[in-house]
Amino acid sequence: MSKPIFKRTKILATIGPATMSQEKVSELMAAGANGFRLNFSHGSYEERTQQIEWIRTASREQDKPVAILQDLQGPKIRLGILKDNMLEVKTGDMLVLDSEIAEHDGSFNLPVQYNLASKMKVGEPLYMFDGKIRSIVREIVSETAIKVEIQNDGFLMSRKGLNLPDTDFGGDILTQKDLEDIEWGASRDFDYVSLSFVQSASDIVDLRQRLLTFGSEAQIIAKIETKSAISPENLEKIVQLSDGVMVARGDLAVEAGAEIVPVVQRRVITLCRKHGKMVIVATQMMGSMVDNPEPSRAEVSDVANAVIQGADVVMLSDETANGKYPIEAVESMRKTILYTQEHSDVMPVAKSESRQKNDAVISYTAARLARDLNADAIVAETDTGATAVNIGAFRPNMPIISLTDNLKTAQKLALNYATRVYMRPPENCHGVDLARDLKNEGYFGDGVATLVLVNGHRPGAGKTDTIRVLTLE
Ligand code: PGA
Ligand code: MN
Repeated sequence: MSKPIFKRTKILATIGPATMSQEKVSELMAAGANGFRLNFSHGSYEERTQQIEWIRTASREQDKPVAILQDLQGPKIRLGILKDNMLEVKTGDMLVLDSEIAEHDGSFNLPVQYNLASKMKVGEPLYMFDGKIRSIVREIVSETAIKVEIQNDGFLMSRKGLNLPDTDFGGDILTQKDLEDIEWGASRDFDYVSLSFVQSASDIVDLRQRLLTFGSEAQIIAKIETKSAISPENLEKIVQLSDGVMVARGDLAVEAGAEIVPVVQRRVITLCRKHGKMVIVATQMMGSMVDNPEPSRAEVSDVANAVIQGADVVMLSDETANGKYPIEAVESMRKTILYTQEHSDVMPVAKSESRQKNDAVISYTAARLARDLNADAIVAETDTGATAVNIGAFRPNMPIISLTDNLKTAQKLALNYATRVYMRPPENCHGVDLARDLKNEGYFGDGVATLVLVNGHRPGAGKTDTIRVLTLE
């Protein structure tokens, strides 16, 4: 029996029009998706309910815990509907953007879905159509309208995104829509909530407070996509206060320049590993697969580099939401992850001093022991998931077999580095029993298997106190 290989970097797939069925969701999962992103910039609550049901059904059928992420739109501001859906503009044109305009009459007075006058100041840049049209605010016309001067020739289209790279939202980035989505999501089966256009750590504190108010204990992912968030005074604090971070390369490139994205990606991954936080690399990873059945060489290289840098998760957006080859995109990603992890080491990083405590030290020691013994796997019993996450933060080059009683923990851990999670069966099996069963199933190949077991001799969170080496013939 040859030893099966499991991917340590996980795949998060976005559900969209291209994958709006039970069948497609099941296929994505079988192909290797470990989590699903529901993008709250589009779609209705009815669709969301349906998607959650499809995902949980597939998860039960495939006996594979997966995570669901509610991706909040944040101040992702869009133009309204334009007459004929398009408007040509030239350098020097003056446009008024007014949140009170209901219908566009073809003039330079445009509807916009957000009150820009409440946040923007004269002289600040405003980018439209994902950065294709640049403009500068020249006047605050009224309480709901601003006037901008166009800086280059081109055209605008209905509902295209706006970026405000230098605008300070003053700790107030959640929109009315976000607040409604948070309340709606709090009683649904989401494991993670991500927030777009985070500016500073206070945005995370605010979101955490609001989630708790509605009784949600979902994990918070900060999307790093603004100039403010990547400033030295904000970035590390955001990482520390979040449960995870997404390098949201699409908007980040528009707001701060495409050339800085690779360096920011490395810095964010390093900070997340230092603090033991989950890190997701997102956007255009397999972008050409929206139209083609094969990825480009550069895309394969991009995914491999994220693996080598030690990302927990690589994400697919349009590729699975709108593309022609959603299943192939997951398969290509999976192949690239597996080859890379088997043939290249993950870059080392130093841990922070604050993590040299209790649980984290036990987990870290177990991971180091497993590495030095060249063990086949680490087996971790975990309640909240912290033990598995802390072991994963070491980026071991072997699977972490996690055993838990808690379905929410299992779902959440689906996205963490190297973890293969199992629900504890009702007959109360321990890590040792699970390891024996897996050995018999061929999980560790033929010969002798060396495992490092991590658990607590007393039940409960934070009670991890035992490391044991187990040799199975
Ligand atoms: P989005 O976030 O797809 O929700 O905009 C990701 C990004 O900006 O890269
Ligand atoms: Mn974005």
